[in-house]
Amino acid sequence: MTSRDFSSDSLDPSGEEWEQFRASGHRMLDAMIDNLSTLRERPVWQPVPEQIRESFREAPIPEESGTLTEFFTRFEQAVLPYSTGNRHPGFMGWVHGGGTPAGMLAEMLAAGLNANLGGRDHAPVEVERMVIRWAATMMGLPETASGLLVTGSSMANFIAVIVASRAQPAGTEMRKTGLQARKLVGYAARTVHGCVSRAFDLAGLGTDALRLVPVDTSFRMDVSALRQMIAEDRKAGAEPFLVVGTAGTVDTGAIDPLEDIAAIAGTEKLWFHVDGAFGALATLSERFHPALEAIGKADSLAFDFHKWAQVPYDAGCVIVRDPVRHAAAFAQTLSYLSREDRGLAAGAPWFCDLGPDLSRGFRALKVWATLSIYGTRRLGRMVDQCCDVAQHLAARVEREPTLELMAPVTLNIVCFRVRVPGTDEATQDTFNAELVKDLQESGITAPSTTRISGQLVIRAAIVNHRTTCADADRMVDAVLNLAMRRDLQRMPEDRSRGNSAG
Ligand SMILES: *Cc1c(COP(=O)(O)O)cnc(C)c1O
Repeated sequence: MTSRDFSSDSLDPSGEEWEQFRASGHRMLDAMIDNLSTLRERPVWQPVPEQIRESFREAPIPEESGTLTEFFTRFEQAVLPYSTGNRHPGFMGWVHGGGTPAGMLAEMLAAGLNANLGGRDHAPVEVERMVIRWAATMMGLPETASGLLVTGSSMANFIAVIVASRAQPAGTEMRKTGLQARKLVGYAARTVHGCVSRAFDLAGLGTDALRLVPVDTSFRMDVSALRQMIAEDRKAGAEPFLVVGTAGTVDTGAIDPLEDIAAIAGTEKLWFHVDGAFGALATLSERFHPALEAIGKADSLAFDFHKWAQVPYDAGCVIVRDPVRHAAAFAQTLSYLSREDRGLAAGAPWFCDLGPDLSRGFRALKVWATLSIYGTRRLGRMVDQCCDVAQHLAARVEREPTLELMAPVTLNIVCFRVRVPGTDEATQDTFNAELVKDLQESGITAPSTTRISGQLVIRAAIVNHRTTCADADRMVDAVLNLAMRRDLQRMPEDRSRGNSAG
C-alpha cells in the first residue's frame, strides 16, 4: 500500500485508486461484521488503557495525508475495544439501545448520500416525513401531526416545551418580547428525567417554573397533588401552561397515569406533553399497548428511536399534534409556507422551520431501515422479550436472601440492592455503589446505579435486544460473587474468626 490512498489533487480516489478504496472498504465492513457477530466473546466494557488515552490527548493535528488502512488500524486498536459496551448483551446500565447490523449499514448509506435535511425538495425529506407519519400513527396520534427527528429525547423535550409555551395566549408575541413579567409554570412528577428541567432552563422559563409533583408508592404521579398545585399556582398569579407525563421513568420504568393527566390537562387547559423516551416504544407490544394508549391524547410527544427501537445513535423524535402550532413556534417568517413553487427550493414546509437546526443529517434513513427490516410486530415482541428478562431477573432477586427488590417492575427496569446487615444507610449505599464499579470493571456485566427514595440501588435496564434470561442470571451471579469478595475485605476479622471456628 502506498503512503496515500488518494492522489493529492482530489479528496476522492481517482482511476485505479477506486479499486484500492473498494478493497479497504470491504475489509472495514468485514471487520465490523466479525466484531458484531462475536460480541459475547469480549468483555462488556473495559477502561481505556492509560497509554491509549495519552495517545489521543497528545496527538498533533495531522498536517500530511495518511492512509485509510492506517486510520482503520488505529480505530481497531484504540477505539473498538474501548467503547461504551452498550452493544453487548451484558450491558444493562442506564437506558441504552444495542443497535443492529441493519442500522449500521443504513448509517453508511446515509453518509454516502450526505443529504442535508434542513429543507429543499428531495427524496430524503420525503423519507423523514414518512417516518414521522409512521411514528405519529404508531403512537396513536393523528397522521397529520408534525414532527422531526432530533439528537435525542433531551432535544425533543426541549422543542416540546418551546412549542407549548408559544401556544399560550400571545405566545408568538413572546418570541419577540421574551417572557416579560409572565410566570409560566409547568408540572411533572418528581421522577421526571433531568432533561425536562434543563428544557425549562434553556427555554428561559427557569427551572423553578417546573413544579415537581409528588409520586405514589408505585412512583407514578399523584394526580390529586397535581390538581392542588395547579390551583395554588393560579391563586398566586402564575400561569400554568404545561403538564408532562412520563411513559417509562428513567429510574424505575413507571408509567404516570397518563389518562388522568390528559383529563386534568383538558379541564385546566394545559398543554399535555408525554416524555416517552424509551417507554413509548412499548406501545408496539400487545401486552403494554393498553397502558400507553393515552399517549394518543398528548399535544406533543418525545421519544427515542435509539433506545428501545435499537436504531444506532443518535435518533430522537418529537411529535406535535397540531402542525400549525409547531411551525408557529420555530418558523422565522411566514415564508415557511411559501417557498418556491418548483425547483430544488420548493417542497415547503421545511424541517428547519420546526426546530433550532438548519442543517440536519439523514437520521430518517436508519429509522426507515430499522422499521422496514424488522417491522413493528417484531419490535413489539422484542419489547416483550426485554420485559420477560426483567421479570425473570426480579423473580431471581426476590429468591436471593441477600438481595432486595427496591421498586415494582412495570416494564424493563429492575432496581435492587445487596443487603448489608448491621450497617447504616450510608455504608449500605457505598457498598452497593462500589460493587457496581466492581461489576463494570469485571467485564462480565454492566448495570448502573440510581437513587430511589434517597437510597442508592443497583439498576438493570433491559433495553438491549440481545440480553437473555441467562445474561440476567450471569449478572446476579456476578453480583453475589463480587459482593462476597467485597464483604470479605470489609470484615476481615469477623470472617477469619468465623473460618477458624468452622
Ligand atoms: C433517556 C431519557 C431521556 C433523555 O433522552 P436522550 O435521548 O438521552 O436525550 C429523557 N427522558 C427519559 C425518560 C429517558 O429515559
